[in-house]
Formats: sequence, C-alpha cells, structure tokens
Amino acid sequence: LILGFDFMIINEKRFVSNFENLAQIGKTLDGGVHRPTFSVAHQEARVWFKNVCIQSGLEFRIDNAGNHIARLNCGLPNAPTLLLGSHLDSVPNGGKFDGALGLIAALEVLLSFKDAAIPLSVHVEAIDFTDEEGTLIGLLGSSAMGGALKAEDLLNPRGGRDNLVNGFHNSGLNPEKILNAKRNQTSFIGYLELHIEQGPILQNNHADIGIVSSIVGICSYHINFIGRADHAGTTSMDSRYDAAQGASAFTLESRKLVLQSYPYCVVNIGQMEFTPGAFNIIPELVVVSLEFRAPEEKILKHLEVALLELALECGAKYNLGVEISSLGEHSPAIMSSDFQNAFEIASKALDLKTLRLASGAGHDAQAISKICPAGMIFVPSINGSSHSSKEYTKMSDCINGANVLLHTLHILLGRNGS
Ligand SMILES: [Zn+2]
Repeated sequence: LILGFDFMIINEKRFVSNFENLAQIGKTLDGGVHRPTFSVAHQEARVWFKNVCIQSGLEFRIDNAGNHIARLNCGLPNAPTLLLGSHLDSVPNGGKFDGALGLIAALEVLLSFKDAAIPLSVHVEAIDFTDEEGTLIGLLGSSAMGGALKAEDLLNPRGGRDNLVNGFHNSGLNPEKILNAKRNQTSFIGYLELHIEQGPILQNNHADIGIVSSIVGICSYHINFIGRADHAGTTSMDSRYDAAQGASAFTLESRKLVLQSYPYCVVNIGQMEFTPGAFNIIPELVVVSLEFRAPEEKILKHLEVALLELALECGAKYNLGVEISSLGEHSPAIMSSDFQNAFEIASKALDLKTLRLASGAGHDAQAISKICPAGMIFVPSINGSSHSSKEYTKMSDCINGANVLLHTLHILLGRNGS
C-alpha cells in the first residue's frame, strides 16, 4: 500500500490504547462491561470521552438529550456537517465492543484528519448517543436528534418513567427539554457508523467488512394477562383463572406464528412478572415483555396485528383479561446506496473482503436515517456472540473497520471539494 495524501490510515497505537482504556470503565470480572444508561460506570465512560476530546483539541458539547458531541470544526461557519457515532452504554453485563468500538473509531477518524491538517469544507462530528441499548427507551439520543422521538414516547418508556426522569436529573439534564435536541436536517451530509456484527454471517463467509443494506424495525409491548388469585391447593383445575396459562400459551404460540408465517422476522418474550408470585397462590397477573422485529415497515405492522390478536386469543382460551400497552417502535431503515458503494470502494482499496447484509440489531443509524442518508459497516463477531461478556472481535478487524470508516470519509469529503 502506498500512503500519502490520498491514502490515510488511523493511528493504531492511539486507537488501541483509547479502546483499552475505555474497556476498563465498568469492567466485569469475566472481561465484559456493565454500563447501563446513566449508571455510575456509564457516566464515568462519558466523562472519559469528554476529557479525551477536549484534551485532543476538539470542540465538545452536550445536547438536550444528553448526546456527547465532539466536533472537528472546519472553520467555515455555514459548512454542512458529516456525522459519525455510536454509543457508550451497554446492556447489563454486556461486551466491551458493542457501541464502544464505533465511538472510538469515530473519534480516531476526527483525530486522524486533525493530525493530517487537511483543510476540510465540512465539519465532522463524533457523537456518543444516549441510551442506544434501551435501558430507558432505546435509540433515545439519536431519535431525539432525528426528530422521531415524541412527547408520548417519554410518558411510558420501557425502562419506566421514574428511571428516565431521575437519570436525566442525576446527569444534570432536564428531561422536559429532551425533544429540543432535534437538529436542522439541511445541515447534514450524512451519518456513518462502524459496529460489530453481533451475528455469525461475516465469520461464516470469511468476510472482513459487512456493508449494511437495511436495519430491522423493532416494537416493544407489555401484555398483561389478568386472572384471579386463589388457593393453589383447594381450587380445582377446571375452575381456575390462571394468568400463567395465558402468558405461557402466548409465548409458545408466538414462536410458532413467526416460524410459520414471518420469514426474516423474530419474536422474543424476555421477561414475565408474576403477581402475587408465590408457590401456593394461583397467579393473578402476569406481565409479559414482548419484543418483535421485522425488516420492512409493512411486515412489522402485519406482525404487530397478528401477535396482538394472538395475545387476545390466548387470554380468551383461559378466561383471562388481556391488557396491551405499547412501549415504543423503531421503524426499519434502508441504508444509503451511495454510502454502501463508498464503503465498497474504501474496502477494496484496503484489500478487504466485503459482504452486503441486513442488520437484525437496532442501531442509532436507523434513527438518524430519518433526517439524512445513513450508512453502516460491521466487523466480524467471533461465533456471533454479543450482549454478553463472550462478545469478541479481533483487534485486527477493529482496526480494519476504523480504516474503512476513515477512508470512506476521505472519499466522501473528496467529492465535497475538500
Ligand atoms: Zn450497539
């Protein structure tokens, strides 16, 4: 490879050291990280990011949704902005690559451009979005910035309203101002994000870089199956109003439904809460946490109707009441074909094998795609493990991903006259 003005590469030493330093924050005994949104470790990680940005001479600000924004200012006040980003929060006992890799790579891209002292005609930002993982809402910061977040989404978030309000207050933010984070879309060229795949497709196909074509839509619901608490020993089997039966039937039937009629879709019942919850009392109430995903809006809507009808059927079968409450939706997103092609060219120049694929995981890119073109690349996850401490991506793959991101930016900015 010939390096020069037209062929930049990242500062590997700085990139690896930043990645490893960040991975120490909220580190778990088995090598992952525990950084749920607004936890002590999450706040600490954000302060670390802020300090690195400021020490490196980047502009830095925090918006009304708590997004931490580093900016390489090109010096032209009216210039458009190219956005990069990912997230520093994790699922409980998650891995150290999910989100963190993308943000460290975004930061490294800014620093590489800064080092090269190339005059730019656009501003470039690296954004740490608030609550990507859904401790509170999911894609909270990116949806707020993209304008898709609505006031009613904040009233009944899946993580609980109190947790949302207290979390914002504890971080010095006003939860009443979250929607003010919406930004003027005309000022953006686009958004690019590097992420780990979180699935096995790249590894199975011996590909280095995954170029994302689309991102799934996600809906979450609470479904309450309501029966009657009675003595578990003295109430005959045929006269019970047992909420557990409806909830369990729904769990099994929803899997069958998706397997039979909804290819490329998934359904998950990740939690059931029993009330009163004792050995010797028939469950009066079971609250089911339901989430489902589909690659297209139309299919997502179909699946939604089918699953909610199924819940009512399962309740009726066991003489139970059923209450349904929506906890939010993230619509599916198509990635920019222009950016997909730019990723392809950049990967080829770096001698890396690419594969186009759809993302079954939600990402900030889908929220930002509502206001400007968005593109994503993946690097391989060993055995597809993610949302666990087993999550692992080889450092050489992380470096490849960061270099493709940098080179793609170089291609896009070159077109923009920089
Ligand atoms: Zn992530």
